[in-house]
Amino acid sequence: MIPDLFTQAPPVRDTLVTKTSKDQDETVGVCLPFLGGEDEAVEYNEHGVPGLDRARHIKFLHQSLGRLPGRFVAADASRPWFLYWCLSALTMLGEDVTSYRESLAETARSMQNDTGGFGGGGRQLSHMATTYAVVLALALVGGEDAYEVVDRKAMWRWLCSLKQPDGGFQVCLGGEEDISYLDVPRLIAWLSSRQYAPEGGFSGRTNKLVDGCYSHWVGGCFPLIEACLNSSSSSSNDSSGGRGAAAAAGDPAGATSTTTTSTLPPAEESLYSREGLIRYILCCCQDQTKRGGLRDKPGKMSDAYHSCYVLSGLSSAQHQWELDDADADADGNGGEDKQPGEDSDSSAWAVLPCLDGLQVFDNKDRVRPIHPVYAIPQQCVKAMKGYFEAKQGF
Ligand SMILES: [Zn+2]
Repeated sequence: MIPDLFTQAPPVRDTLVTKTSKDQDETVGVCLPFLGGEDEAVEYNEHGVPGLDRARHIKFLHQSLGRLPGRFVAADASRPWFLYWCLSALTMLGEDVTSYRESLAETARSMQNDTGGFGGGGRQLSHMATTYAVVLALALVGGEDAYEVVDRKAMWRWLCSLKQPDGGFQVCLGGEEDISYLDVPRLIAWLSSRQYAPEGGFSGRTNKLVDGCYSHWVGGCFPLIEACLNSSSSSSNDSSGGRGAAAAAGDPAGATSTTTTSTLPPAEESLYSREGLIRYILCCCQDQTKRGGLRDKPGKMSDAYHSCYVLSGLSSAQHQWELDDADADADGNGGEDKQPGEDSDSSAWAVLPCLDGLQVFDNKDRVRPIHPVYAIPQQCVKAMKGYFEAKQGF
């Protein structure tokens, strides 16, 4: 009932023994009993996969939104992330998080700087990463009281001050600038090489071990890649070949991303083993004790970060996303002619349960779909964008 691929050590192994190869062997050894359905205390379905322990994970995440032990002081500058991780994970598990609206709005206000953007806490420098986390958290709880926390005029000025002559952005004033070039064929080759057998999960780099959080960092790339391939094949003369990917990367004007896709066929089948990833997540990443939560791998403690990104990867593996380029930008001008209040791109993404390959999880264990670009539910994106697009100016 469980394919050999997931129950045995790999048939071909490098004979050179190094610390890396030993760590890898040890990790395979730790994962195999979980993948093989060998725990008598756990109930498995007909595919040898345990159910999603929703109730325990929900309890763990609500607790993680409360007071944290003293050792978390080291993570103080990441407080916005804790808010996003917990609220996002709860939302994917089907919880209503609107009860956090008031307290989140108050906390977020204390993190906002008059000069625009959000820091990791009061009197901390505004940073793209923490700003991103706060805005997503506000979108998750939703509602005018949450949306109105954002000083959009100051935010706009701050973002403009970070914009560089080459079109990229610094992460903070004087901080590093991210890449703006995308080589899709090489990216696909690299991403596909991140999935391991028998573990089924992804690693973050060559010679790194499998880790549940890469279910999102790697797995979450595939809907974007598929949209890019399908858009480049539907607009075969390559004057517009990269626009789908640029839009998918959150850059509707297509100004900062260059893509190379011309030699690739459309993605008709999954570019990775969804079954493998789902097996790794449900078998190896769930804390089966009363603590609950999701984790990197067996032997590691669950935490809010891994709970969020393991569930994000699970959501991505369980669903099929399609980007309708015509809706996203019918005339190819980057949506510049959209009127205020007109939804720009959130309705262009359509989602269905994934029907590709064997479904090894029970339907009750399907988590909510999250938007491939924003990593929050599509309705949250639509509601927040609709609210602001209906306003005249700031
Ligand atoms: Zn991790």
